[in-house]
Amino acid sequence: MMKTDIRSYFPILNQEVNGHPLVYLDSAATSQKPTQVLEAVKHYYEYDNSNVHRGVHTLGNRATDAYEGAREKVRQFINAKSTEEVIFTKGTTNGLNMVAASFGRANVDEGDEIVITYMEHHSNLIPWQQLAKEKNATLKYIDMNPDGTLSIDQVKEAITDRTKIVSIAFASNVLGTVNPIKEIAAIAHAHGAVMIVDGAQGVPHFHTDVQDLDCDFLAFSGHKMCGPTGIGVLYGKKEHLENMSPIDFGGEMISTVGLYESTWADLPWKFEGGTPNIAGAIGLGAAIDFLETIGMDAIIEHERNLTRYAIEQLNAIDGVSIYGPQDPTKRSGLVTFNIDGIHPHDVATVLDMEGIAVRAGHHCAQPLMKWLKCTATARASFYLYNTEADVARLIEGLRSAKEYFADVNE
Ligand code: PMP
Repeated sequence: MMKTDIRSYFPILNQEVNGHPLVYLDSAATSQKPTQVLEAVKHYYEYDNSNVHRGVHTLGNRATDAYEGAREKVRQFINAKSTEEVIFTKGTTNGLNMVAASFGRANVDEGDEIVITYMEHHSNLIPWQQLAKEKNATLKYIDMNPDGTLSIDQVKEAITDRTKIVSIAFASNVLGTVNPIKEIAAIAHAHGAVMIVDGAQGVPHFHTDVQDLDCDFLAFSGHKMCGPTGIGVLYGKKEHLENMSPIDFGGEMISTVGLYESTWADLPWKFEGGTPNIAGAIGLGAAIDFLETIGMDAIIEHERNLTRYAIEQLNAIDGVSIYGPQDPTKRSGLVTFNIDGIHPHDVATVLDMEGIAVRAGHHCAQPLMKWLKCTATARASFYLYNTEADVARLIEGLRSAKEYFADVNE
């Protein structure tokens, strides 16, 4: 079990909401930030604030060192071969759109296939839908098992020699399913396709090694891993990035500029046009330091213990259906569910009255809702600062929601 003093690093958790101590169960949407991250951002603005890569002055050099230092922390965290492969972005959505706009436009032709799954977040679906339309390519969905997992046979059936891109979530933000990326990457490569990973729900929760996964691209967001909003990372293999065109043209990303021709900066700056989110990158670096102090293996183990407990308790409530695999070792730390006869928005509203924050809606995964044959669900998502007591409050809150609606519906 995680040390209880972890919560003391998160000042936001120490408050009452609607007269009750806050229970924050919406970390899959965005995580809370520890003091170490808040301090790093504050320190940067108080002492080092300056633009990067330009200054000959001391503050400019300090800002550049801190910004590039954060890139090195990211490189180590995901075990990229070089910082040339680590591009700072606004977040997962931005990173995936960059791959679609640059790599996708250059490499996908009419009749080619782009393979995704029914469990993708809209951010890993719409860019490919758009690219497929533009290029007259085929967007293909890998079938899923009834419990919301993928089997290797289904993957093998979907990927063919016409497949150019396979883009799959590391973990589903609705089902919690953790996908076998390494195995899927091997199948994609055997057919000459690239493997793109939406790491938004994976990288914050478990140890990620891009060389071991052998993925070609990986996008993730800082705000879901204790870092600030507006910062994320796109990892790409150097051999791809070198051949790709930049997306944002302007300052910072050039080498030489003439009246009619220009040349691009080296990697990774070629993809970082304009003044970057310097404070965000520094905050993300501090978040990585924090997560590493606790240890990624300890984090996922803790989340899985909470998930196991939550699934057991939810299964004991009449009329609750849980989506995704029941086995917590096949999941990340979240549970999505519905209660018979109560709309998930009502569930979330009643819980909020008790100070418990959960998410309700389609979770930016409308095709998955259709696959699940529902329009919306409620979701409780856990992170390193949640406790069994939080889960117990959730269960208590759900029992009162059931009673409340039973009375109202009488
Ligand atoms: N993919 C998945 C699986 C997600 O859960 C999310 C965030 N909900 C995203 C992509 C998009 O991340 P962001 O909004 O930070 O770009």
